Amino acid sequence: MGVQGSGKGTQSALLANDLDLVQISVGDTLRWHIQHHTKLGAQVRRIVDAGELVGDELVESVVRQRLDIHDWNFGFIIDGFPRNRRQAEFFLESYDIDGVIHLDLPDEEVRRRVLARRLCSRCGLDYNLIAHRPEVEDRCDVCGGELVRRADDTEQALANRLRDYHRKTNPVLDLFRRKEFVFTVDARPDRTSVQQFIRKQLDLPPYQPDQL
Ligand code: AMP
Repeated sequence: MGVQGSGKGTQSALLANDLDLVQISVGDTLRWHIQHHTKLGAQVRRIVDAGELVGDELVESVVRQRLDIHDWNFGFIIDGFPRNRRQAEFFLESYDIDGVIHLDLPDEEVRRRVLARRLCSRCGLDYNLIAHRPEVEDRCDVCGGELVRRADDTEQALANRLRDYHRKTNPVLDLFRRKEFVFTVDARPDRTSVQQFIRKQLDLPPYQPDQL
């Protein structure tokens, strides 16, 4: 869990790749539907673009359908879910959760990162004009696709998301703290340092960037 731009996607991908976990991102799933003009995509596009939260029933059905596939051997890591009390209760009732990683980032740093974020329109890889610049401006290093801003990475959408986060998502952490293992990580350092810290907290061997 963590506010937008705190590195949820990046840190979960590093854990998932190395530990053979399945990575599940509700935000990525919704963006896929929007990009592919599915019926679900049409239902959620305006909400996602405005940085508002999609309805709980819809999100829960996306999560349930995804988890029902049960395509993992060693477990899954889910990012961007749950985001409010109802989703948290649904999650706690339906699945075994070993732990919650909370990436903590101050609002000013969120703004700085999110407004510099770019996404490859073809393969979905994440870039950041501050920390992870592409070699050629506006082009993906991997597939050459055009780099675009996420439609919800604007000042207004960001303000909505920060408001929702503080109002709805933070209290969920308190709920988890009563039942589950929650640990908070300072998300300000670079991605490798944050990953090392997560692993230390989980008693996992250190991250070896060259091996990935
Ligand atoms: P993310 O990529 O996690 O920042 O999610 C992008 C957008 O997808 C959010 O701003 C919401 O509009 C929607 N979304 C993702 N996860 C959820 C969730 N758990 N509940 C409601 N809306 C969500």
